[in-house]
Amino acid sequence: MAPLQLEIEQRGRRIFELVDQHPESLFSKAGFYQRLMTLSMRDERFKTQLFRFVAVLPSLRRSSEIIEHLEQYFIDTNDGLHPLVGVGIRLARLFPWISAPVLRWNVSEMARQFIAGRNPHEVIATLRKRRAQKIGFTVDVLGEAVVSEAEADEHAAFYGDLLEKLTRETRDWTDPLEKNADLFPVVNLSVKISALYSQITPDAPAEAIAHVSTKLRPLLNRARDLGAFINIDMESYALKNTTLQLFKAILTEPEFKDWPHAGIVIQAYLRDSEADLLDLIEWGRTRGTRFAVRLVKGAYWDYETTKSGQNGSNPPVFLQKPQSDANFEKLTRVLFQNNAVVTPAFGSHNVRSIAHAQAVADELGIDRRRFEFQLLYGMAGPIKRALVGMGYRVREYCPIGELLPGMAYLVRRLLENTSNEGFLRAKFAENVPAKELLRDPKELIKPAAAGIADRAASKGSNHKNGASLHATAGDSFRNAPLVSFIYKDSQDKMQSALREARKRLGEKHPLFIGGEKIWTDNLTPSVNPAEPTEIVGYGTEAGIDEAEHAVKAARAAFETWRWTPFEERARLLERAADILERRRYELSAVEVFEVGKPWSEADADIREAIDFCNFYAQQMRRLGRPKLTQQVPGEDSYHHYWPRGVAFVIAPWNFPIAILCGMASAGVVTGNAVIMKPSEQSIICGAMLMEVFEEAGVPPGVLNFLSGHGSVIGAHLVDHKDVDLIAFTGSREVGLKIWESAGITRPGQRELKRVICEMGGKNAMIVDADADLDETIMYSIYSAFGFQGQKCSALSRLILLEENYDRVMERLIPAAASLRIGNPEQPGIMVGPVIDEPAYRRILEYIEIGKKEATLAYQAKELPPHGYFIPPTIFTDVKPNMRVAREEIFGPVLSVLKVRDLDEALEVASGTDYALTGGFFSRSPDNIERVKARLEAGNVYINRSCTGAIVGRHPFGGFKMSGSGTKAGGEDYLLNFLVPRVVTENTSRHGFAPEQTPEYRDEFLWPKSKP
Ligand SMILES: Cc1cc2nc3c(=O)[nH]c(=O)nc-3n(C[C@H](O)[C@H](O)[C@H](O)COP(=O)(O)OP(=O)(O)OC[C@H]3O[C@@H](n4cnc5c(N)ncnc54)[C@H](O)[C@@H]3O)c2cc1C
Repeated sequence: MAPLQLEIEQRGRRIFELVDQHPESLFSKAGFYQRLMTLSMRDERFKTQLFRFVAVLPSLRRSSEIIEHLEQYFIDTNDGLHPLVGVGIRLARLFPWISAPVLRWNVSEMARQFIAGRNPHEVIATLRKRRAQKIGFTVDVLGEAVVSEAEADEHAAFYGDLLEKLTRETRDWTDPLEKNADLFPVVNLSVKISALYSQITPDAPAEAIAHVSTKLRPLLNRARDLGAFINIDMESYALKNTTLQLFKAILTEPEFKDWPHAGIVIQAYLRDSEADLLDLIEWGRTRGTRFAVRLVKGAYWDYETTKSGQNGSNPPVFLQKPQSDANFEKLTRVLFQNNAVVTPAFGSHNVRSIAHAQAVADELGIDRRRFEFQLLYGMAGPIKRALVGMGYRVREYCPIGELLPGMAYLVRRLLENTSNEGFLRAKFAENVPAKELLRDPKELIKPAAAGIADRAASKGSNHKNGASLHATAGDSFRNAPLVSFIYKDSQDKMQSALREARKRLGEKHPLFIGGEKIWTDNLTPSVNPAEPTEIVGYGTEAGIDEAEHAVKAARAAFETWRWTPFEERARLLERAADILERRRYELSAVEVFEVGKPWSEADADIREAIDFCNFYAQQMRRLGRPKLTQQVPGEDSYHHYWPRGVAFVIAPWNFPIAILCGMASAGVVTGNAVIMKPSEQSIICGAMLMEVFEEAGVPPGVLNFLSGHGSVIGAHLVDHKDVDLIAFTGSREVGLKIWESAGITRPGQRELKRVICEMGGKNAMIVDADADLDETIMYSIYSAFGFQGQKCSALSRLILLEENYDRVMERLIPAAASLRIGNPEQPGIMVGPVIDEPAYRRILEYIEIGKKEATLAYQAKELPPHGYFIPPTIFTDVKPNMRVAREEIFGPVLSVLKVRDLDEALEVASGTDYALTGGFFSRSPDNIERVKARLEAGNVYINRSCTGAIVGRHPFGGFKMSGSGTKAGGEDYLLNFLVPRVVTENTSRHGFAPEQTPEYRDEFLWPKSKP
């Protein structure tokens, strides 16, 4: 055995011996808590329900509510009630007035196990006890989910106050180890940057750093004066780069350059943690003053893997626990090797990780009082005691705060304690032998799953464009990941694309008909709504002649294209998807200029276009092969599809590439010939999409690009006898006209026109009495004001139960007041300009109407001087019959309606002409089921934003006056572009028939296509 491993085992065993001298179960509080945790470890479903129940409990006020939730959460766990819970519920039903407070008390006690105190006074009492045990502290203020600048200011002020109080209280405290005290001030605070700025976005680190620095500087200054230490905690990956940059930037400022008492966290579960640590060390050397690093594995593993799974991107974390452990050990050595510039702290409860750090320190001759072990309050008490006994420096991480803001922290701790992979569970709950627990993690890494890609691939049949005929779309389709603006590289690419797009402002773009570029004498300028004097480009204006030309070209092309094998058509879309991906930043930049989309919204639009191409290609492969209707002897009947003919696509400006691309690509892949007309406000985006298809090799006439006035060419083509299908997305007014006009059969018309009509919404979200308010506010604000409320899915009516009304409003308005409004060319902007002057005037008119009908509860005051900027506005006292509650405004205006209960909420939510999106915030399983079943909306979203549908995952579209019931990005969308056909053949000859007929056959093509 290698000497180091031997040493680790010896030290590990020594720690275990000391631990076993004071045996303690995993959960130091016996009784209720311990039993629940034991159950959780046995039964995953019970654990999920329990943690959900624990998370909602502090926000329940009435005993009856508590009992109802208890029942709803546990009624069907473990195929019926768990005996312990069953008895509990039965008792609770009989004595709710006793049971509810007892439950609440028990959960508070559970939280108290991990929370060192509700206020500075309580925390100080705890710290005194620890001092007697020679354990130091770092205090963290709970409640990092700030939704407004008011909350961020309060949080910062609390830290300031805490610093003063702790310094006062610990004036006479000396270092417990009485050596190297200069490296380890007694007072130590842990700060999370997200709690200091409510508008942090990963794409705008400079802006975040500027804001957070203004809050952090006074705290650092005061800490330096008082001789205290400040540690910056590390949160989710999205904030990691900003946190590192901030730390380096602020500590290089002249006033802090020579201050050694600041630290930061490195999370060893991150694949890029080694590079980050080396970079920090390099920075520290240049700075010339020591700093501290707390090395941890990381607290957000589940969150990071779930998030990446949703986005289809590689998780930033290792996927095998021993990889994190091994990396922790590797970085431990790096820290010790650089002890001259960095003071290490090891944040772990894992005896193997701890013993390894001890052994490496000895190997490198580092005094055990020059680094510290940090452990969480309420966890691994015996290990802390053992380490103190061995003469090591121990500091406890002590959260302070009330139960409600502390819930996220509590749930993280419960998860950690019961995690299958966790050390604590293995040692204290499952009594895994020491030898096992002390094994070298490198030996435990399984080579097969070491690659991230392997894991992604093994998760179902989630391969790109899986052409399986049986898999459902959701199973076999893989969305393009969003660009992650966490990375500097992505930020730089976007900045450079914006610079390049700026150079090309004012370019002229032709029509594209029958494979040729066509120019006319009329050019239409398209302006930047954030700077209306700036012309983004000119589109060539088509008149009736060009429209006629396009119909003829399309008609001619249709006759060939319709007989082109579907595989070829699908490949065309995939080539277009690849080009969109290659030109992704460039196209996003054009959207920023032409329609005022913030960066990430623009990127999401291009991603959606890519997804549409790949998804419809996949769906065409599914639909393209004729399918046997029934297995009968002597006859085969195959069901298959033909394209309809010439499709006219009319798209809006708010998703200027995605929606145009979605409708056009669906038309093309199904074998129709398409004429696409972009919105008059987004001609340049439309022209760029045409370029993409041209490069992808679309045959002449199969896709034609016609920009011009809707009232002229739009109306002409809708009525045209040679147009067989109209795919429209836009306003209700225009949609209804098209619907009506298409119903008239004109002389010479071959087909009954099919209209795909997607119109507006008056979308509502209901907030239940028990909703998680952090999430409610964050998602409501985003749904209502993201991209200036100009999504047909945007939230425009927030329906609050009267019980909850004040609590929501109290946070909603400051959250709206904190939004960043500005030119979306800058990163991190949430609210940009509305599309054009008519929209600007119309929305302002609605605001005037709102002022007369309802109460203006909030309106932003500071707006950029130029451009069509509308202040985010909130109306209260809105009644369902008011115009602001019924009519689509399509801007950053939110109406808040107060209702008695969920019955009324559902009635109000469903009581408009529209049924597009709708949402519900609740933690009551029964209420959630009820809303899922009853809310009148094409897309219902629970506990999340009501915008941002993803192709394949959330087929999108509404009914009533929101649309004709089609679902873009859904399995059945392509059927709208097709006519079904059945071919039946008698295959028997004199009573003799083949035994089996294949389920699928080749396409009906003549002349037969070559294999
Ligand atoms: C004092 C202190 C401060 C901390 N501060 C922070 C902080 O600022 N930011 C932060 O993110 N964390 C922080 N942590 C870490 C976090 O809260 C956990 O306590 C820690 O990750 C648990 O690691 P462990 O070594 O104690 O236990 P172990 O049981 O050895 O390790 C558990 C950890 O392994 C990792 N892991 C679990 N499953 C897998 C898997 N399948 N693949 C790869 N890795 C996996 C996770 O990080 C998990 O937390 C802190 C911890 C302490 C003790």
